[in-house]
Amino acid sequence: MSQKKTSGQGQVIFVGAGPGDPELITLKGARAIEGADRVIYAGSLVNPELLGMCRPGVPCHDSAHLTLEEVVALMLEGTNNGETVVRLHTGDPSMYGAIKEQFEYLDKQEIPYSVIPGVSSVFAAAAAVKREFTLPDISQTLILTRLAGRTPVPEREALSKLAQHQASMAIFLSVQDMGTVVKELLDGGYAASTPIAVIAKASWPDEEILLGTLETIVEKVKAAGIRKQAQILVGDFLDPAKGYARSKLYDPTFTHEYRQGTDK
Ligand code: SAH
Repeated sequence: MSQKKTSGQGQVIFVGAGPGDPELITLKGARAIEGADRVIYAGSLVNPELLGMCRPGVPCHDSAHLTLEEVVALMLEGTNNGETVVRLHTGDPSMYGAIKEQFEYLDKQEIPYSVIPGVSSVFAAAAAVKREFTLPDISQTLILTRLAGRTPVPEREALSKLAQHQASMAIFLSVQDMGTVVKELLDGGYAASTPIAVIAKASWPDEEILLGTLETIVEKVKAAGIRKQAQILVGDFLDPAKGYARSKLYDPTFTHEYRQGTDK
């Protein structure tokens, strides 16, 4: 059985579980799970293998079936009992994690909490396709966004408006509506030949990678039957043939704080 602390105030630790591969949690996050008296995890996306790091007998609650009120009630019950409660969120908690509403509740109850970041699926997706979002002369900006769904997106952030920047882009929560994604990107001024990648279940054993252009990707996604848990990456950074300027940092002619180059 778990050894529950019965005196003193407990705490809640929000932990980024990473994108799926259990080795992609941080050391600090893993230690928090090992020390937890109770875990509340987002069962729809967090790899259940991570729960194997808990001490035997530690209660693990899947928040997929719970409301915010039920989640915070579990936190209150645990912390009143002096427990350390770990709240496991997929990827990094700060992206589409619905954490602020939990923080506000804990603030009101004066329950201490902290946050341990995680590897977002956006970075697992870039790793899967072995690409760099920020290439000199191509883009120095990464836009992280989504299509409106049941959660609205402010009009000024419509995908077609963001597309006007032609920056590197990662689109969460939208693969179920690939036709609209492509339409908005084209409306925003992307050429039909712009490369796009869909990475489903990045870092999981059944990861799938589809590479195409705005012209071909809708068919590919349909044929693969991908409807959820995918990142959509867009931009010329994906095109291996596209010319870019090499970095100044590693250029032999370039002097900087840590290295004398041939320019001085
Ligand atoms: N906080 C999470 C995102 C939660 S929203 C993060 O930082 O990754 C859920 C969305 O994230 C999914 O709809 C999908 O777009 C993306 N996602 C989560 N895990 C993923 C994975 N392993 N591979 C690809 N996309 C993933």
